[in-house]
Amino acid sequence: LLRLDGVTVRFRDRVALDAVSLDVTERQTVCVLGPSGSGKSTLLRVVAGLQAADAGQVWLAGRDQAGVPAHRRGVGLMFQDHQLFPQRDVAGNVAFGLRMRRAGRGEADRTVAELLDLVGLPGAQRRAITALSGGEQQRVALARALAPRPKLLMLDEPLGQLDRSLRERLVVELRQMFRQLGMTVLAVTHDQGEAFALADRVVVMRDGLIAQVGTPLEVWQRPASEFVARFLGFDN
Ligand code: ATP
Ligand code: MG
Repeated sequence: LLRLDGVTVRFRDRVALDAVSLDVTERQTVCVLGPSGSGKSTLLRVVAGLQAADAGQVWLAGRDQAGVPAHRRGVGLMFQDHQLFPQRDVAGNVAFGLRMRRAGRGEADRTVAELLDLVGLPGAQRRAITALSGGEQQRVALARALAPRPKLLMLDEPLGQLDRSLRERLVVELRQMFRQLGMTVLAVTHDQGEAFALADRVVVMRDGLIAQVGTPLEVWQRPASEFVARFLGFDN
């Protein structure tokens, strides 16, 4: 579904992505791990069309995306700073993603209710965004990203501000949902446990390069380098 071929992104003298190549098969969940500044968000932005590549190609469903604007790529995206619409209520934010699917009113209301249940905010439809905590806003943003059921869903630290018990519950439910809907997911996370629980494949990044790609078990049992082993918390 998604292919990156030698994608390079430079910011002045910094190389944020250094000739990155990656294949993501349909219905896979791929989690991207790596230290701060290793290029994880840049990777998502370049796939979404929010960041131009200085070299290399991004392919989606067999099409080179060069020159294709973000809104035509059919990918769902949830940012680190979730960027909700503060002037709309919770339902207005979640339903925003549904308009792209041309859902009818009744169907939209039902879907919004289901998604709010999923993210643990049942009945929050009429609440104001400005009256929500950071973690609650993050859950609304997640519901909004899921609403249009995009072929490719990209999440940047989707559960970053949530407490452990909520994260653990959401990871299980998200995994089920991704499977059921046949979604392809590319998710950035700082949390290894989360990555290992969600992912079919894990990508470990370092300084704009992919240090390792593999199943969670492969990466865990056979880290490709000392860097990966250290990053995973093995001390020798
Ligand atoms: P974090 O875990 O902190 O979110 P990250 O892995 O997502 O980090 P990126 O945001 O992709 O890292 O950044 C990769 C590198 O590119 C960093 O060195 C960052 O400083 C640089 N960078 C990212 N965006 C820009 C920008 N708009 N202008 C200049 N430099 C940037
Ligand atoms: Mg980032």
